[in-house]
Amino acid sequence: MVSLESLERDVSRSGYRVTGPRRELLATLQEMGDHFTAEGLVAAVPGVGRATVFRTLRLLQDIGTLCQVVLDDGTLQYRLTSGGHHHHVVCSRCGAVNDFSACDIQGLLDEIAERTGYVIDGHRLEVYGRCADCKEVLTSET
Ligand SMILES: [Zn+2]
Ligand SMILES: [Zn+2]
Ligand SMILES: [Zn+2]
Repeated sequence: MVSLESLERDVSRSGYRVTGPRRELLATLQEMGDHFTAEGLVAAVPGVGRATVFRTLRLLQDIGTLCQVVLDDGTLQYRLTSGGHHHHVVCSRCGAVNDFSACDIQGLLDEIAERTGYVIDGHRLEVYGRCADCKEVLTSET
């Protein structure tokens, strides 16, 4: 789990002052860490302006501390990460998210670049399924 101290350090290192409202925002975000929506965060910190919340979410993504998770129904959530290139496996039933770092798709990316003429800057890969708990529930229901 990413600590509040390291969050504040990351933010100040990128040239932002950690002011009172921003500290409150980071503390709340750190508590919600596993996954949360932008609206959920806005509601959880009534003392912090909406624009500041969204700006800070953007900043944390830029510095690699926060990642976006797209749920099966298209809902966008955020999740704190301790960094490193990784992807998510998302439970379609309960929304539990797990990270995995194996990303053996360089060959595919090269092929896409070749076929389309694009310079590939990034990619997103979410994998959907049922987590260990939900798998059991569904099996016992049938
Ligand atoms: Zn992630
Ligand atoms: Zn589940
Ligand atoms: Zn990847």
